Amino acid sequence: MAEEDDIFPTGLGVEEARAHIVAIAGARKLSTETVALAAAAGRVLANDVVAAFDVPGFANSAMDGFALRAADLPQVGEKPLVLIGEVFAGGHAVAKVEKDTCVRITTGAPIPLGADSVVMKENTRIEDGRVIVIGGARHGANIRVAGEDYRAGETALTRGRRLGPAQLGVLACFGMADVSVVRSPRAVLLTTGDELVAPGEPLGFGQIHDSNRYGLGGLLESLGVELIHRERVRDDPVALRNVLLRAAGDADLIVSSGGVSAGEADFLPRLVAEIGRVHFWKVRIKPGMPFLFGQIGHALLFALPGNPVSGFATCMTLLRPALAAMADVEPAPTTLRARLRSGIDKRHTRAEFQRAKLECDAQAVLWATPHAKQGSGMLRGVAEADALIVLPEGERSFAVGELVDVLPLPGWPE
Ligand code: AMP
Ligand code: MG
Repeated sequence: MAEEDDIFPTGLGVEEARAHIVAIAGARKLSTETVALAAAAGRVLANDVVAAFDVPGFANSAMDGFALRAADLPQVGEKPLVLIGEVFAGGHAVAKVEKDTCVRITTGAPIPLGADSVVMKENTRIEDGRVIVIGGARHGANIRVAGEDYRAGETALTRGRRLGPAQLGVLACFGMADVSVVRSPRAVLLTTGDELVAPGEPLGFGQIHDSNRYGLGGLLESLGVELIHRERVRDDPVALRNVLLRAAGDADLIVSSGGVSAGEADFLPRLVAEIGRVHFWKVRIKPGMPFLFGQIGHALLFALPGNPVSGFATCMTLLRPALAAMADVEPAPTTLRARLRSGIDKRHTRAEFQRAKLECDAQAVLWATPHAKQGSGMLRGVAEADALIVLPEGERSFAVGELVDVLPLPGWPE
């Protein structure tokens, strides 16, 4: 493979690789589209949302009770008030609250004219048709003022925000039935290898089930990618070429696993150089060293090594920043800092991503415990991990209690 090494960059550091990817992906901004609120969960907001009106839109009661004038009440003791009406949430206007009168009110109902406070029902009683109120009500008590949550004209949500339940609620508050979001990147996932068999099918000698189809596929979907097609491909250059060219026709991204190392059946680097372009091949990381970034037609190609853990690590650290760049948003989340529960003796120079459990102790210190299974083929290490510990380049030991960067996996801390 010496020729390939000569025509494209190889052996990049992880930061350099990421910068290269982000520069190219960032030049392919995704368009925007309008979707119904019910279909907008997990999508990236395309524009700032400005509060179209105050929320709440009118002063209303925070309690079930009685609306009154605080000035009518004694500082201590009790006072009977004349009940002149009632207003419930969604109900219409009632008589003005004058001196020594009150209006029965429920939570969310508009405050009647003249009233400036609400006394909760539990602090009152009815006696001889009068409402006996305990004194000391504070002016403005239990009233939710118009605009106390959002003021008209304020930025309520900022562009680039991934829409979760609370953000969808905010959009609905402003009466929006649909929202402008960034189009999801469309990806084809190709799992390559003669040894691969679909789950559900029996295994022959030397065969394994295609776990990347679901592991990597699920990871991509959790990162907001729309998987338009998944296909298993044999280690056959002709088949690979056809599948790659077809995928390039309608995908923004092609994600492949396997066939990108230096083995006799690893056809991808040469093939991509032939039918597309290799931006770089091989990164100084462990696992995931054979990672290749290229393009075929308009589609960006992320060729991940076949080892399931390598796929996870490279997706999290190299593909994910490309998604942020295409959506024109800040890559999130950045790494957290944690202390090592056990020491690590790193006997190689590449940067390393170790699978780890995270736990926050009573002193709010975040601890990372490296998983015992660190082999790049050991999916168990990922399945039981919360995060990747990111160890910088260089051969050295990391002591117990030492601070390291950790990159949480999707789903943590659940
Ligand atoms: P490769 O990158 O093709 O050399 O594959 C490296 C290792 O990952 C080999 O042990 C493969 O059997 C394994 N592997 C490749 N593709 C998959 C897959 N889709 N699911 C599970 N293991 C895989
Ligand atoms: Mg292979």
